[in-house]
Amino acid sequence: MEYTVARKFTGAFTQQATLPAEAVRAAVSVLESGRLHRYNLESGETGEVALLEAEYRAWQGSRYCLAVTSGGQALQIAMRACGVSHGDIVLTNAFTLAPVPGAISAVGSVPHLVEITEDLRLDLANLRKKISDTGARYLLISHMRGHLCDMDELMQLCDGAGVSVIEDCAHTMGASWNGNRSGNFGKVACFSTQTYKHMNSGEGGLLTTDDPELVARATILSGSYMLYERHGAGPVPEVFAEARYHMPNCSARMDALRAAILRPQLARIETSIQAWNRRYSIVDQGLAGSKWIKTIDRPAAESPVGSSIQFLLPRFDADQCRRVLAAVAARGIDLKWFGGTEPAGFTSAHQSWRYMAGQDLPRTDAVLAILFDMRLPLTFSEDDCALIAELICEAVDEVMS
Ligand SMILES: *Cc1c(COP(=O)(O)O)cnc(C)c1O
Repeated sequence: MEYTVARKFTGAFTQQATLPAEAVRAAVSVLESGRLHRYNLESGETGEVALLEAEYRAWQGSRYCLAVTSGGQALQIAMRACGVSHGDIVLTNAFTLAPVPGAISAVGSVPHLVEITEDLRLDLANLRKKISDTGARYLLISHMRGHLCDMDELMQLCDGAGVSVIEDCAHTMGASWNGNRSGNFGKVACFSTQTYKHMNSGEGGLLTTDDPELVARATILSGSYMLYERHGAGPVPEVFAEARYHMPNCSARMDALRAAILRPQLARIETSIQAWNRRYSIVDQGLAGSKWIKTIDRPAAESPVGSSIQFLLPRFDADQCRRVLAAVAARGIDLKWFGGTEPAGFTSAHQSWRYMAGQDLPRTDAVLAILFDMRLPLTFSEDDCALIAELICEAVDEVMS
């Protein structure tokens, strides 16, 4: 279909903010030193990775922190450090991204998906049922697109059922539930510093926990070559007594260059979060004005990081949803739809993860069929955000007129 539109947005949905000047200076200094490996230190030197770990732990409010190569590697290491082994069932949300079931499969365990609700959160009634149906002892909860479920109720349920909770906080770095940081509820949490998340080192991951034995296992798993005494936010060496012989080296260390880039970003993260949330609420309010669009409820207990936005088109069939994609694309808007039959970009659904057994998820499928998703990079101004919301409303009206 050929489109002529009156107004068009010209910003780039994949353009993140540039790095702070200090990050560039710190990176150059690491490059000039030639010492990029985290353990390649001069005597008495702490190193960028150990400093990042100490600073991240302080900000997150966890006892320990370990930096690794990616969010996906953090998930694999966290599961192994929790004791997940070959053939174990790991429950996770049916609405998530491919690295989550991917990490579960990579450690030899079996992903089993739990339904979500219309507001994109884990369905706790379905979780309870699946724990009792499968006898699973692990839940990898993916706080997908920043929508936290009732974390107090979740922990009560899982603690009562003897289920260990691993939190995937790739979309909730800095978010909280009832004043408690996301990541501080379960046994261990994983964060990503990949370009499209809340801090940008290209690739990278962070793992936090309060459990000394767990972080000792994770550190050996990350490939510490027994140099764990050089870590910035780990337990005392005695805690490694068992782990050092029993954990395989999976070579997933973070390097000094990435850590150097991340530290100045961490120092500014509260400002970034506020900037994301202002953009989110402008788009959200704009979309709420359309009679066709259902925006996602945000519970009072949740304080999110609005780096992306989702909405539903409840009265639209698949063909109308496809026409919405075309109508917004003509207006320069990069909207993703989770209802497509083929995986496109980052939007794959469970039907495309064919390395795992087929899953029966009628509630989730009904939500994904009408679910749209869009990034809100900080390179967009607040005026850009208002325009984007107007253009989406206009496109949706056009399809239904
Ligand atoms: C990005 C992402 C990950 C994995 O992070 P990488 O650093 O890309 O490996 C895990 N879970 C979710 C929900 C993500 O979006």
